[in-house]
Amino acid sequence: MKVTNAEIVISAVSKKQYPNDQLPEIALAGRSNVGKSSFINKLIHRKNLARTSSKPGKTQTLNFYKLNEAFYFVDVPGYGYAKVSKKEREKWGVMMEEYFQTRETLRAVVLITDIRHEPTKDDVQMYTFLKHFDLPIIVVATKLDKIPKGKRDKHIKRTKQTLDVAPDDFVIPFSSETGEGKEESWGIIKRFL
Ligand code: GDP
Repeated sequence: MKVTNAEIVISAVSKKQYPNDQLPEIALAGRSNVGKSSFINKLIHRKNLARTSSKPGKTQTLNFYKLNEAFYFVDVPGYGYAKVSKKEREKWGVMMEEYFQTRETLRAVVLITDIRHEPTKDDVQMYTFLKHFDLPIIVVATKLDKIPKGKRDKHIKRTKQTLDVAPDDFVIPFSSETGEGKEESWGIIKRFL
């Protein structure tokens, strides 16, 4: 996929702000600092369209990126940051429910995990939460460049097992550093557009 046009349309906090032009949408979720912005920037060939996010105290928003005037990437605020207050966490939960439950143009979710580590409790919770809405999930296990080649299969297997990935979902090893997994990611995303 060649992205020739990318623009942030809105940083939304509630449903009434979501774009309503009916274009298909792919959401991107992941733990804070997992490498979600880097994944987005790598796929769309921009250095810094998706900002390095998720700093504590920063407003949590759903960022809608319109690509090629044809579809959206929706950057979902990161989860699992230890220092976030209970109130913030609740606000995040309400925003997620509202979005995932009602967004009819949402076709699939990319869930970013860190291939170096076993998926965390928060990752497992997020995967389960998304399955609850019957959404197709593309797990992108990033930071592949940090794993020696001989150990990759073992790490991928662990990601699949811990998340209990459904047979019709996807797991893609990826690196924003080397670009490995980029074409495969686009290939699968395109199926849902
Ligand atoms: P976000 O909070 O999920 O959006 O995470 P960022 O994309 O800002 O990435 C967090 C940190 O991980 C940054 O220091 C990135 O440079 C680093 N990072 C992200 N992806 C990769 C990757 O594929 N390989 C390596 N080695 N580092 C990465």
